[in-house]
Amino acid sequence: MRILWTGAAALALAMPAAAQTLRGDVEKQMPSLMTIYKDLHANPELSFMEVRSAGILAAEARKLGFEVTEKVGGTGVVAVMKNGPGPVVMVRADMDGLPVTEQTGLAGASKVRVTTKEGVETGVMHACGHDTHMTAWIGVARLMAANKANWSGTLVMIGQPAEERGAGARMMLADGLYTRFPKPQYALAFHDAAQFPAGKIGYTPGYALANVDSVDILVKGLGGHGAYPQTTKDPIVLASRIVGALQTLVSREISPLDSAVVTVGSFHAGAKHNIISDEARLQLTVRSYTDEVREHLLDGIARIAKGEAIAAGIPDDRMPVVSVQKDEYTPATYNTPEFAEEMAAYLKTGFGEERVVKMPPVMGGEDFSRFSRDEHKDVKGLIVWVGGVPQAEYDAAKKEGRTLPSLHSPFWAPDAPAVISTATEALTSMAMKLMAKK
Ligand SMILES: [Zn+2]
Ligand SMILES: [Zn+2]
Repeated sequence: MRILWTGAAALALAMPAAAQTLRGDVEKQMPSLMTIYKDLHANPELSFMEVRSAGILAAEARKLGFEVTEKVGGTGVVAVMKNGPGPVVMVRADMDGLPVTEQTGLAGASKVRVTTKEGVETGVMHACGHDTHMTAWIGVARLMAANKANWSGTLVMIGQPAEERGAGARMMLADGLYTRFPKPQYALAFHDAAQFPAGKIGYTPGYALANVDSVDILVKGLGGHGAYPQTTKDPIVLASRIVGALQTLVSREISPLDSAVVTVGSFHAGAKHNIISDEARLQLTVRSYTDEVREHLLDGIARIAKGEAIAAGIPDDRMPVVSVQKDEYTPATYNTPEFAEEMAAYLKTGFGEERVVKMPPVMGGEDFSRFSRDEHKDVKGLIVWVGGVPQAEYDAAKKEGRTLPSLHSPFWAPDAPAVISTATEALTSMAMKLMAKK
């Protein structure tokens, strides 16, 4: 079965009206999908707490005839549709919102507030656009169910928790995603994009997103009176030296042809003008693509912290403590190159050359990577970008030299109908292409 963009007029004779064109099918779903989107947008849930969102996905899939299992890896949803012989294709949406207070000023903005586990009261917002991901997921489920006669294989649709904590994919795999359910040959997903116009599709063969590590450094000193520094070991001065020396990791130790980031995002120490405190705390985000560069950066951070402490005369029992947050490590996302090119070429036949654009990799992170790495390298993975910036806004910002709000910004307001309709069509068409009837 060929789908459905070309020769629509010829197909129209042979097919029921509802299945004439994929794009037509998507458009018919849009009013209902936008109702779901508005509900999800107004009711965001933080990582590990996506109970209501998961319930919406599960109920929709069940209605459509999927076999649905809930609470996979926490709040995860797995919906399986077996539809004859053929490949297993997985489609993933992540479900979590962020501790960001929405400031878009739009009708329908999230007013949700929660107190986090750390005791911080905060607004909650789908500032990464995972509400568009879930809505398009429902769109794909509906279209695949409606077009069952036109494909053959097994469709596995998953709602994944806690992407923002880099944990959900790992937890779903650990809870048997690939053993209790059919293991896919292909894994597909999309992410909305805040840097290019609504309705465009971006793809990046090979490394697309970075290894992301969170590192904490506890710098210990010897506290005392601010007037008698000679009786102390000042941890603020030492931590400052460490921050300075860390800058040489990327600039002097990593090849200029490799990508790497070491950012110290937080530096806390002391309580009062005239007290030299006895410790300082640093929090770092560390990014790379390859395992070798990642290892070099993490080893280098530990070496620099210790070396600077020795230079400052810190006693052996008060060396800095460097901890890598293993639970929040997100491995680099690698789109299987030939698979990415093949799918992009196919998308161009439907969307046109100008809507499907090759994009450079970025240093953001996505735990979608886990579904096709380590012992799962046999899974061909592809996550595409779907532009979300309203075209007029994009043009105006370009003209005025303004910076657009990024993902995670309290001002991020995607053109949701464009994102959802484009993503629904793109993911459905790719899944149907992969499971085309021979
Ligand atoms: Zn995010
Ligand atoms: Zn995201």
